[in-house]
Amino acid sequence: MAKTQTPHIAILPSPGMGHLIPLVQFAKRFVQQHNFTVTFVIPTADSPSKAQISTLDSLPSSIDYVFLPPVDLSDLPQDAKIETVISLTVARSLSFLRDALKSLAAKTKLVGLVVDLFGTDAFDVTGEFNLSPYIFFPSTAMALSLFHYLPKLDQMVSCEYRELPEVRIPGCIPIRGKEMLDPAQDRKNDAYKWLLHHAKRYRLAEGIMVNSFVELEAGATKALQEKEPDKPPIYPVGPLVNVDASNKGKADGTDCLKWLDEQPHGSVLYVSFGSGGTLSSNQLNELAVGLEMSEHRFLWVVRSPNDKVANATFFSAESQKDPFDFLPKGFLERTKGRGLVVPSWAPQAQVLSHSSTGGFLTHCGWNSTLESIVNGVPLIAWPLYAEQKMNAAMLTQDIKVALRTEPNENGLVCRDEIAKAVKGLMEGEEGKGVRNRMKDLKEAAAKALSENGSSTKALSEVATRWRNRTAI
Ligand code: UDP
Repeated sequence: MAKTQTPHIAILPSPGMGHLIPLVQFAKRFVQQHNFTVTFVIPTADSPSKAQISTLDSLPSSIDYVFLPPVDLSDLPQDAKIETVISLTVARSLSFLRDALKSLAAKTKLVGLVVDLFGTDAFDVTGEFNLSPYIFFPSTAMALSLFHYLPKLDQMVSCEYRELPEVRIPGCIPIRGKEMLDPAQDRKNDAYKWLLHHAKRYRLAEGIMVNSFVELEAGATKALQEKEPDKPPIYPVGPLVNVDASNKGKADGTDCLKWLDEQPHGSVLYVSFGSGGTLSSNQLNELAVGLEMSEHRFLWVVRSPNDKVANATFFSAESQKDPFDFLPKGFLERTKGRGLVVPSWAPQAQVLSHSSTGGFLTHCGWNSTLESIVNGVPLIAWPLYAEQKMNAAMLTQDIKVALRTEPNENGLVCRDEIAKAVKGLMEGEEGKGVRNRMKDLKEAAAKALSENGSSTKALSEVATRWRNRTAI
């Protein structure tokens, strides 16, 4: 069979919707602007989730996908952290990846392999196919700067990072050690070993794209672009976000969009903790009461609580039990008309672009944050896991587009604190300030993605480098 002559890229997303979604957006923009074709090669440890399938089924014909056979993770301890699960899923998929790349190389002009933040083990096979190894970093330039800095920090610091009053990531505002990303919170845990393993391997990439834009993170991108031996070039190509109106995610979201149609302009606070976020039962109760006390309109995506971990639904995005059973007694009746509660999943891209949505209480997942930025919706930051505390620090103290809810000494964000933050955002002077700054940021984002914008140019540079690569 003759090979097609259109250049082809393989993309390997590590497990988790928060990783797949931005890579899908990247692929769509890339094929649309640069006439490449793409295949997603997806490592698995389980059967694919409904959310994955519906996202992949909405892809244009120039983007194909293949699930690799599931790997066995039965030897992992029950309490293995997600970074360990993700990294091992990729590392144990290499022979399947090799087969998939072989078959792609036989029929396409395969020139590159793109992995995301925990996928660097896949670089072990790029040499065999003469593929250009790239990373698409789906989070902030700040987190990427930390990945670059980590091997040095690991050598300089002997205590736990969480004991440090201040960490100075190059190009970024100082953060407290306990705000560093989750897998860096316990250096003895395997999750930290994996983090450091990947951080050290970032220099193997020929280039790193980051889902941010220069105007949003000027300091961090400048630091990343400073030349050093072994440091790959950095391309800020964002914000690449889910704006596809036809993709309603896992569930039909028309009810909640219809409800939004009936609400006054800018009046609704959208409340969601991403695909993986879960609250404890106590916290769920406080949030419900706080929302009720605020007397503002809200649209809340609720999941059944989990008292052990804050990311219980990371791989599935599904509630384990009926979340409505955990709401305070009479809550739904008392807030009827003013509040709408939807179980587990909402069509977030459409919710955030709806004119009735005036604020977003978010776990600060980076996709959610970018989706809010492109729609100019100001935030209340309620970070839960992964790098979200770093994101929250940046959003509240640096670019100042979010108000913050602070947990008390027991880690609980209390009802008064919640009601105060909601009122502050939706009606207060402080809210006006963050709303105005968010509007400016929305314009800056649109400019970065415009024809001559910084992110468009950065993506073109990557395309040129790949185009000039000769396939085997
Ligand atoms: N999302 C959605 N509906 C939901 C929850 C999440 O469409 O009810 C989408 C959201 O729009 C975003 C992604 O799932 O694109 C979540 O990514 P993020 O980085 O914000 O958080 P994560 O899920 O990785 O913690």
